[in-house]
Amino acid sequence: VTFKDMTAGERSLLMSRIRKIDTKPELAVRRVVFAMGYRYRIHDSTLAGTPDLLFRKARKIIFVHGCFWHCHRGCSLGKQPKSRLDYWLPKLRRNVERDRRNERLLRKSGWKVLIVWECETKDLAALARKARRFLREPGSG
Ligand SMILES: [Zn+2]
Repeated sequence: VTFKDMTAGERSLLMSRIRKIDTKPELAVRRVVFAMGYRYRIHDSTLAGTPDLLFRKARKIIFVHGCFWHCHRGCSLGKQPKSRLDYWLPKLRRNVERDRRNERLLRKSGWKVLIVWECETKDLAALARKARRFLREPGSG
C-alpha cells in the first residue's frame, strides 16, 4: 500500500508514528552529507522549525520535507487528498504557512536554508549534487 492509497485515518495513524522517529528520506540526506565529510547537528529545537540538519559554523540548515505533509507542488507524492478535505486542507495549509514562517525567521537570523523534498531522496547521486552545491556556497556567518 502506498501512501497515496491510504485512507485519511491510515495516514493520520502513520503520521502520528513517523513524527516521532527518523524518517527514511531524512536518513538518506544525513547519510549522503555525512559521506561527503560534513558533520551536523540534528533536530535543534532551539531554532524555528527544529531544523533536520544544522551546520552551525557555516550557518546552514537543511530541512527534509515529506511531499505530502508539506505540499510539494507539481509532485505526485504531494497531491492533495481527495476525501475529507475539510480536515486535510486546513491542516496542510497550516503546515505550508509554518514552513514559510520558519524559513523566513531563519533567513532573517542569517541562516542559509535548503529544502530537500522526499521525492529528491530517491536518486542519491542527484541528492549528493544538490547537497554539495548548497554546502560549498559561502556561508553567511
Ligand atoms: Zn515531491
